[in-house]
Amino acid sequence: MKIRSTSQLLATSLLLIGSYAIANTPISKPKEIKKYINKSNMDLSVKPGNNFYNYANGNWVKNNPVPASKTRWGSFDELREESSKRLQTLLEDAAKNTSRGRKTQVIGDFYSSGMDSAAIDAKGYQPIKADLDRLNTVNSTSDLLREVINLRVNGMGSVLFGTGVGPDRKNVTKYIPSVNQGGTSLPDRDYYLKDDTRSTTIRNAYKVHLQKMFALAGENAATASASASAVLKIETALAKAQMSRIEMRNPNATYNKFAVKNFNDSTPNIDWVKFLKDCKIEGADSMLVSNPSFMKKVNEMLVSVPATEWRSYLRWNLIKSAAPYLSSDFVKADFEFNSVQTGQKVQTPRWQRMSSLIDRMLGDMVGELYVEKYFKPEAKEYMVKLVDNLQSTFAERIKRLDWMSAETKTKALEKLNAIAKKIAYPDKWREYEGITASKDNFYANVRSASVWFYNNNVTRMGKPVDRKEMGMTPPTINASYNPSNNDITFPAGILQFPFFDFGADDAVNYGGIAAVIGHEMTHGFDDQGRQFDAVGNLKDWWTKPDADKFKGKANEVIQQYNALTVLDTVHVKGELTLGENLADLGGLSMAYEAFTKTEQFKKGKKIDGFTPQQRFFLSWAQIWRNNILPESAAQLILTDPHSPGEHRANAPVTNIDAWYDAFNIKASDQMYKPKDQRTRIW
Ligand SMILES: [Zn+2]
Repeated sequence: MKIRSTSQLLATSLLLIGSYAIANTPISKPKEIKKYINKSNMDLSVKPGNNFYNYANGNWVKNNPVPASKTRWGSFDELREESSKRLQTLLEDAAKNTSRGRKTQVIGDFYSSGMDSAAIDAKGYQPIKADLDRLNTVNSTSDLLREVINLRVNGMGSVLFGTGVGPDRKNVTKYIPSVNQGGTSLPDRDYYLKDDTRSTTIRNAYKVHLQKMFALAGENAATASASASAVLKIETALAKAQMSRIEMRNPNATYNKFAVKNFNDSTPNIDWVKFLKDCKIEGADSMLVSNPSFMKKVNEMLVSVPATEWRSYLRWNLIKSAAPYLSSDFVKADFEFNSVQTGQKVQTPRWQRMSSLIDRMLGDMVGELYVEKYFKPEAKEYMVKLVDNLQSTFAERIKRLDWMSAETKTKALEKLNAIAKKIAYPDKWREYEGITASKDNFYANVRSASVWFYNNNVTRMGKPVDRKEMGMTPPTINASYNPSNNDITFPAGILQFPFFDFGADDAVNYGGIAAVIGHEMTHGFDDQGRQFDAVGNLKDWWTKPDADKFKGKANEVIQQYNALTVLDTVHVKGELTLGENLADLGGLSMAYEAFTKTEQFKKGKKIDGFTPQQRFFLSWAQIWRNNILPESAAQLILTDPHSPGEHRANAPVTNIDAWYDAFNIKASDQMYKPKDQRTRIW
């Protein structure tokens, strides 16, 4: 089941998957220099100028293969592992606690029900049987739309296309419904449309998987095979009508506003006034459509595709959303198909799947306990100061830019100063009113939470926009920027080593968390973020010559990353990853400048043989150390807007003069870029 509807078309920019930096006001903290930069993780036989990532991480990479139950292993994953163990402790305690309040009861019983594999197995696919039977009665377009709505409002996912309620990107004080392309199951449209070996393998495996799942849900072999073909046919047609991920990065191209009643003109087979009302989205006179031509295709398919094929498609969507919560044969089939895509060898243990499920579904309930037990409030104070320091360093850098006019600078500074900060945990914890959980009905518990999320999204229509809402749960090891709110979020989870540690020297914290802070702030000024103003409205505040200069510089970054490869021959997609690459470059540059204001930098004393400058860049490289299975790397290159870890470590530093000085990089070194080829934007 999907628990979060896509209310915003423009995805919030995340760090990682990512990281950032601190700031210039000296902050007193206990100093205890441990091996924050550990030589035994480095490969000192590599010249830093030939491959900085390998120099900084070579031995770590050699000694830390991907565990069998993972698809990759790196700094983020190590912290995630730790975090899920903490959640497990909290959830097991909650499950055992006999004198408990509502929150503890809900998460404790939810967890118990999810761990009771015998009870789950005994039910097989019974939890969805009545829904499957009902879907088999669909015989007309109106039946089909009724079920598309039914699955949505009952927490079983956005079938056929996405819907949700979010701030109007051009008027962010108001909520508006949006309708988005969707309806497919594979991670990217390319898998339906391309004929290279990997796409074909995945497509074939998908067909086998579909047959298997239909059979598990009671269909005989012939029916299951016909159902699988129907699903593949419908999803391929939808994939063809979708925009690519790169096209979707243009926030103006995906902003198409219609009066609700007028959108019927382009899609006459859907009565949108009725559709939204039945989806419980009340009081909307207009709506946003990310891809109108996709919706025209849907409109046409509503009548051209036979009802029997639609029934298969609906059943599949129900089975797909329910499978992780059904008996082990469903879970196993899901895992096997997933393995073809990602290369993962062994299923993630049940306790770990349950911990992350409850974090996703009841994140504030378990997050409140997490913060109480594991988070030091001083870390929040430290972060607030660090963010302020980075913000003022960024401001100084904007004022000094030689390529931007005074007029645009004024607007840029206005936007920078308006960035809201969400650190560690929300001001107000969600109560999840109405969610119930019992020990003996896992599936019902998941549905209860899914319905809550659906209602929480649609019932905000007409209310003032909640700008305080935190988009990430406290234990999350990540960070984000949200352009419509002009805010940055750093959950408690990321405020740990190797990003941040109270005992670490400034070089380590600035190369880590401060660079991450800078990264998130730069997202407000990347290829997408720069198109939004200080309040968060999609509104152009650039003079034409400044915008052209920005695009020219951004294009240099596109070319730099297009030249990089993964798995020997696959190239990084410079346009898809542009926003993240700009954020890495900006974030690292401003973190370095902030670091130059610290006492450690000024004193220049070596630690373990490394200068402060060297430790700063080594810390940056260290947060990107990772191993990844080749199958997952191939998948992420298509779908992930972030560049692979090695390139995140290496590519930004080649644009920063201080890195050349710190490691005495020479023109003969492989990573060397002549000064006039180093790109500096922010
Ligand atoms: Zn990012």
